[in-house]
Amino acid sequence: MKASRRMVLVSNRLPTTLESGPDGPALKPSSGGLVTAMRPVFQTRKGYWVGWLGEGRQEDVERLLEPRAREGCELVPVALTPSERKGFYTGFSNEIVWPLFHDLQSRCNFDPGYWNSYTGVNRKFAEAAARVASADALIWVHDYHLMMVGECLRGMGVQARMGFFLHIPFPALDIFEKLPWRSQILRALFQYDVIGLQTARDQRNFLECVRRLLPEMDLERVDDEVRARMDGRVTVIRSFPIGIDFDEFAHHAKQVEVTRRAEEIRRELGGRKIVLGVDRLDYTKGVPERLKAFQHFLATWRNLRRKISLVQVVVPSRESIPEYHDLKMETERLISQINGQYGDPGWTPVHYIHRRVERGELVALYRAADTALVTPLKDGMNLVAKEFCAAQEGESGALILSEFAGAAEQLREGSILVNPYDMRGVAEALHAAYRMPRTERMERMKKLRRTVRQANVFRWCEDFCLYLEGAEAAKLRAAS
Ligand code: UDP
Repeated sequence: MKASRRMVLVSNRLPTTLESGPDGPALKPSSGGLVTAMRPVFQTRKGYWVGWLGEGRQEDVERLLEPRAREGCELVPVALTPSERKGFYTGFSNEIVWPLFHDLQSRCNFDPGYWNSYTGVNRKFAEAAARVASADALIWVHDYHLMMVGECLRGMGVQARMGFFLHIPFPALDIFEKLPWRSQILRALFQYDVIGLQTARDQRNFLECVRRLLPEMDLERVDDEVRARMDGRVTVIRSFPIGIDFDEFAHHAKQVEVTRRAEEIRRELGGRKIVLGVDRLDYTKGVPERLKAFQHFLATWRNLRRKISLVQVVVPSRESIPEYHDLKMETERLISQINGQYGDPGWTPVHYIHRRVERGELVALYRAADTALVTPLKDGMNLVAKEFCAAQEGESGALILSEFAGAAEQLREGSILVNPYDMRGVAEALHAAYRMPRTERMERMKKLRRTVRQANVFRWCEDFCLYLEGAEAAKLRAAS
């Protein structure tokens, strides 16, 4: 990317969140896949990052952000009132778009009041971006919270090139059609120059919606990208599967402390086979379904009881939404049922960790695990699956992966694919992983690691930025 073209990233959350600590307000790293993916990218580029910083007083915000501004990476906080957070974030984003785009329409609350809040807050983000974006800036807007930002920016006269990347899945027409604001949203997306989706399946779904709901759009496919033309604007629609910082994870996994900690975890679990689940507390992650599959596994293969334990990390998330609270109760009920039914003084079938674990511990868990059980009901990508592969220093871990995770498109070869709704199928996959010869596991993991290493987060960013910069840059890349 040319050094002169500054990047303006726009996302719901900034990479740091303002929180009150023992010595007053302080900046803490934010959580979530988007921030984990974008942080290394942002660290290597100069530019602006527009987003919500958390609740706090303006003077604290300014004081805490000032040192970062001097480093050339400016965080631009967008202040939101509690009622805006409720309508825009809890409401429209997470009670409508999130469940709908994950095919869970019955969990949607189509409260008409949320729409005004969503568009109003999108306008606020656009205003903040417009204040810092020069005419030749590259504006990169992220995710489902901010689909209308591009249209707001164009309405303010911003001509800079703009791209949008959707980190979550794009649903099929039958589902998207249910959204009362489907046409406004779809039309608004075409104010961006690039629309990036995670997978070819998302791209297909998106195009089907465009054909049906915006029939006047002229679509032309050129290899893996589709160019859409309307009212003199050309928008490129393409999939850009997001990656991770492979080298960082692989390097971290080799550290002496991590190796020592992984051995300690194995010892503490009595040298049993370890199956690992790591998820945010979210109904899309399929944790209760997974627990039931594990229960089925223990019921079916009696001889393997005491030989295997499931370690399930659940990171608290969106606790203000009642559905998430219910999910926590359901998860804990199932865990206690399984442990009560099968456990004994020398063996706990399910170890449950309900908190965010720090990076070193997470990597040690990845290394200690024999099998990762990644079974979301639907997921944009799922970075945990990729991080697990990157951390497999001994290259012998097995990955059981949901067909409905975006990652399945890239990791098909090497993983054991499952339908997360098929309890028996998941239990059988666990059994297959348990019995798989080490040589086969190593072969599979080698393939997985190669893919994850190649399609890393820097490559993802570079690819997207080439398209964001314009057709010429993309052509140059293709010719090289
Ligand atoms: N993660 C973490 N601490 C934890 C558990 C998870 O930092 O205790 C990180 C994990 O490393 C991964 C991200 O949270 O980068 C989860 O991303 P993913 O795409 O799997 O799911 P998302 O939460 O974005 O839906």
